[in-house]
Amino acid sequence: MTPELKPCPFCGAGAEFHDVGDFHAAYYVACTQCVADMGSYRTEAEAAIDWNRRADLCQPKVKPLVWRNEFGCVHTAWVVDGSRYKIDAGKWTNGKVLLTTPDGGPLWPETLEAAKAAAEAHYTAWALDLHKQLFEVTE
Ligand SMILES: [Zn+2]
Repeated sequence: MTPELKPCPFCGAGAEFHDVGDFHAAYYVACTQCVADMGSYRTEAEAAIDWNRRADLCQPKVKPLVWRNEFGCVHTAWVVDGSRYKIDAGKWTNGKVLLTTPDGGPLWPETLEAAKAAAEAHYTAWALDLHKQLFEVTE
């Protein structure tokens, strides 16, 4: 069975196996669009493992939010564009947890941990979408 190949991490196009014949290391993977390829391997499976590992490593990673505790019970995380995520959990929210995101909110998660997780998910989605807009190659 031929292993699945992940898209090229540099241009997003598909990848394919090449068989260079009767050599000890006869298989390699190359992008169908750009010049990206990998070294040669004894089997397609070995070639696929390294190709797919590099594709994973090249995926953008979002730094986790860094929360600061302000005024005792307001948790704030500033993000790169100068906007912020804010969690209030105090007497002015009647003990409930209020999450405000840069594009609005408000959300009312059950717990502080749930608020931080929701903010992290919101921020990760925003950052990956921005990365895609900035770096995705289009025809
Ligand atoms: Zn490519």
